[in-house]
Amino acid sequence: MNESIGKLAEWAAASGEDLTVLPDEPMSRHTSFRIGGPAALYLVPRTREAFIAAIRAAHETGTRFFVLGNGSNVLFDDAGYDGAVIASSALDAVTFDGDLLTAEAGASLSSVCKAARDASLAGLEFAYGIPGSVGGAVVMNAGAYGGEIKDVLEESVAFDPASGEVFPIPLADHAYGYRDSVYKHTDRIVLAASFRLAAGDREEIAAKMNEIAGRRVAKQPLEYPSAGSVFKRPEGHFVGQMVEESGLKGCRIGGAEVSVKHAGFIVNRGGATSRDVLALVDHIREVVRKNYAVELECEIIHVK
Ligand SMILES: Cc1cc2nc3c(=O)[nH]c(=O)nc-3n(C[C@H](O)[C@H](O)[C@H](O)COP(=O)(O)OP(=O)(O)OC[C@H]3O[C@@H](n4cnc5c(N)ncnc54)[C@H](O)[C@@H]3O)c2cc1C
Repeated sequence: MNESIGKLAEWAAASGEDLTVLPDEPMSRHTSFRIGGPAALYLVPRTREAFIAAIRAAHETGTRFFVLGNGSNVLFDDAGYDGAVIASSALDAVTFDGDLLTAEAGASLSSVCKAARDASLAGLEFAYGIPGSVGGAVVMNAGAYGGEIKDVLEESVAFDPASGEVFPIPLADHAYGYRDSVYKHTDRIVLAASFRLAAGDREEIAAKMNEIAGRRVAKQPLEYPSAGSVFKRPEGHFVGQMVEESGLKGCRIGGAEVSVKHAGFIVNRGGATSRDVLALVDHIREVVRKNYAVELECEIIHVK
């Protein structure tokens, strides 16, 4: 353990019951890929105050840290992470103010969609089944089936570790693009987000959500661990089609395999390492470059 993480571990051990502290925690337990070596320190704050305090303490001790949502868009390295992973998972409150739904960063998108449905509020159906947290979805501008987070977000509440300030960010200041936002280019942390929804018919909302869930089950290899689509969609091309036409479906390196069901996914067929996944990513990129002169860009975040 290096000196800064040692200081953070001391701080964490003394910080009380609002913070769960797990040293050397395997990241394979906390990621949808089921891949990743140990994080030197894995912290699970139970309240927003504890979340901020943990980030502040990491910043002040000079410890590298990584804020983890639901771990569904990340590939942690086999070598692990020599800093602190701070998980938002326990921050899951959802509240309503008329047709404005506010959720804490760790709330799962699917539970937020269900809460909106139960309140007969429409707008978030597209997000049902995206296996991320609200924080991760706001950062990634998650989207599916014709909708994106930027279409429904009203504002997010951010914490800036450098200034120590908590402040709202209106939609217009998110610099949203395809799977891109201001959060990806700053150290700001999402604490919560508010979505402007519209009164709707509960049965219709439920039917749309069920239809979307059915399409996911039919198209995506949900029976195996993965991190979703591996590559961003390049202008004018479909990744799955190029990978399939290149004969790469089922191509395997170690435990990592190009899904037979959806060529845009790499799945963990058992015992896959980050090395296997990265080697397969390189191979796909090389073949697609050769066949189509298209440069594929990874959507999954490699954390090392
Ligand atoms: C089977 C499957 C299907 C998927 N389908 C889709 C889909 O249809 N559309 C889509 O867009 N994505 C999809 N994904 C990818 C993924 O679910 C989304 O990108 C999701 O938004 C990631 O959220 P997360 O909470 O899991 O983020 P994580 O993977 O935990 O983190 C992603 C990034 O966000 C950062 N982050 C997380 N929380 C915070 C926070 N509170 N503050 C600041 N930074 C934070 C992390 O540091 C990291 O950089 C799919 C993934 C899987 C496994």
